[in-house]
Amino acid sequence: MGFLIPLNLPTLQLHKFLHMSTSPFPLLTTWVELPKNTDFTIYNLPFGVFQSKKLSPRIGMAIGDQVIDLSILDQEGFFANLFLPEGIFLKDSLNDLIGLGKVKTKKIRERVQQLLLQENEELRTHSIRGKVLIKSKEVEMLLPVKIGDYTDFYSSIEHATNVGKMFRDPENALLPNWRHLPVGYHGRASSIVVSGTPIHRPKGQFKDANMDKPAFGPSRSMDFELELAFITGKSTQLGESIATQEAEDYIFGMVLFNDWSARDIQAWEYVPLGPFLGKNFGSSISAWVVPLEALEPFRLAGPVQEPEVLPYLSCSKAHNFDIQLEVWLQPDGKEASKICTSNFKYMYWNMAQQLAHHTVNGCNVNIGDVMASGTISGPTEDSFGSLLELSWKGTRPLTLDTGESRTFIQDNDTVLMRGYSEKDGIRVGFGEVRGKLLPAT
Ligand code: MN
Repeated sequence: MGFLIPLNLPTLQLHKFLHMSTSPFPLLTTWVELPKNTDFTIYNLPFGVFQSKKLSPRIGMAIGDQVIDLSILDQEGFFANLFLPEGIFLKDSLNDLIGLGKVKTKKIRERVQQLLLQENEELRTHSIRGKVLIKSKEVEMLLPVKIGDYTDFYSSIEHATNVGKMFRDPENALLPNWRHLPVGYHGRASSIVVSGTPIHRPKGQFKDANMDKPAFGPSRSMDFELELAFITGKSTQLGESIATQEAEDYIFGMVLFNDWSARDIQAWEYVPLGPFLGKNFGSSISAWVVPLEALEPFRLAGPVQEPEVLPYLSCSKAHNFDIQLEVWLQPDGKEASKICTSNFKYMYWNMAQQLAHHTVNGCNVNIGDVMASGTISGPTEDSFGSLLELSWKGTRPLTLDTGESRTFIQDNDTVLMRGYSEKDGIRVGFGEVRGKLLPAT
């Protein structure tokens, strides 16, 4: 199939023309100067909560290496047509804003996107511009949502298979239920912290195979889990269920998620009820919540599910997203090494299925609940999303770029995760989730 390219277009427009002829997502340019390869493009516009020495906690959006103070835009009347409740951006969490509903929050993003367009002068030439745009390094990002409940799934078939091979039977790595339902457990919401917050090495009980009784002390096998999490944007009543077809109406946006894990504590305690103190001492999320609609250009179908799932888990459209993921490990005061490259598209169970399964029994959800994917491992050895798998239970130490080796995380190591999507000139990313492991208290 051919199409006619106008011959007299300048290069930039020709580029746009070719793009638009194949993609439903138009290319946009902004007057804001953006660092090269920034995650926070005009297509993204994620929501977050920030404060500074001069400013009380408030809601902003990220663009390049700057933060947009939405409360100032609101006060200056830039959202007048949206009839927002007074002071909606002068909050220390996104919960009330999310509670306005997707129709409103989408319109807020669209309005900001319009204000940032190259050809738009409303904000660019306005005297308030210097107060609206603040350098990111001058603000402190806060936990973006008040989290009522946190659930962690186990939805990567590569991860579940690796763990099954290591701890059970290599021939029957997946337990019989795994392909029939998205396995998950209820985690601890109180200890979820925003990127940049250090975590102390937990203490607890462990009993290695060669020990005749359990011992107590600081964990000796501290690990990360590379995950993404979604934040619910709509509540349900007890007794209600969410169908896969409507699940995305209930998903406001996504963040990077590091599910810190103490493998020795976990291995001893988890039978028969699952993870407890090996996980609940801390989990880290990225500061900017990327709304689901910003990820639309990167939607794709997930792996084929065999055997066919029960009807309440079946999906009529693609619910996976192509999100590239990286984990970096940085010894104290030294350079960081990339130790994992993975992708969210590998997930066997998608977010719509997770939410449908979570609520099929009538369990209610609230605005600001966090539901994490589970470790996102890919098919190759360099795409495994935890040190447990990367070092194969500590038997294959990793060599870092500094020459040091690691099987698990050492005191004062920093773990850094990044995630972004890129396609046809459009980039949308999550920034990073970073956390330093401090020694046990
Ligand atoms: Mn996990």
